[in-house]
Amino acid sequence: MSAADTNDVLGRLAISSTAILDRIDTRLPCPSCKKSVMYFCYYCHRVVGYDPSEIPCLSLPVQLDIIKHSREKDGKSTAIHAKLLAPAHTTIHAYPEHVPDYPVDGRTLLLFPGEDARSLTDIDAASFDRLVVVDGTWNQAKAMVRYSPVLSRLPRVMIRTEQTLFWRFQNLASDHLATIEAIYYFYREYHKAYATSSYAGEYDNLLYYFKFFYNRIQNEYRRTGKPFTRRYQGDYIKY
Ligand SMILES: [Zn+2]
Repeated sequence: MSAADTNDVLGRLAISSTAILDRIDTRLPCPSCKKSVMYFCYYCHRVVGYDPSEIPCLSLPVQLDIIKHSREKDGKSTAIHAKLLAPAHTTIHAYPEHVPDYPVDGRTLLLFPGEDARSLTDIDAASFDRLVVVDGTWNQAKAMVRYSPVLSRLPRVMIRTEQTLFWRFQNLASDHLATIEAIYYFYREYHKAYATSSYAGEYDNLLYYFKFFYNRIQNEYRRTGKPFTRRYQGDYIKY
C-alpha cells in the first residue's frame, strides 16, 4: 500500500480540522508536571497549548481500558490519543502494577487475536460493557496477554473487517502497534454490528491526532527525501 493510498483512506474519514495543532511550533511546559512537551503531556494525559474544547470529544458505547506496558516509551504510544479524545470513557492503566482485577464474567472483553477470539457479530451487545486493549510493542503485548493472570483469562474479541487496512504496513513508529487504529476499528465495527443506523463516521475522530502526525511525517519525508518506514506489524487484527 502506498503513502498516497493511505492519504486517501485518511482523507475520506470524517476527521475534524487539525488547524489548532498547526499553530503549535514549539514545546511548552505542561501546566501540571512542568515537563516540556508538544501537543499533549504523556504523563498527565492532558492537552498542552490549547483548550480541550478545541479538539473533538467522542462518546464511546463501551468503556475503554488501555493497559500500557510501563517500559514502553511514552512518545511512541498512540493510546493517549483515545484518552484525550474520549476522556469520559477511557482509562489508562500501567502494566503490570495497576492492571485491574477484572472479574471473569464475560462483561469485559480483550481485543486480541487468538484461536478462541470471537468477532462482534458472534457476541451479544448486551453481554459486555468494557473493552481492554493492551499497548506496547508487539512482543510486549503478546507477553502481557500471556503472562498476566488477569488478562490471560479474559474472553477475546477480534476485528474481522474485510477492508484494506492502511495501518498494517505504515505506522508512526515502526516497531509499535498502532493502538489507536485498533481501537478505532473496534468501535467502527461495533457500530456496524449493533447500531440500527449505517456507519456515518461516528468514531473517525479517534484518528484525529493519528492523521495529524501521519501528514506531518509525510511532509517531512517529502522535504528530506527520506523513505517512509514499512514494516509488518503482526496480526493484531486479522482479516
Ligand atoms: Zn504533565
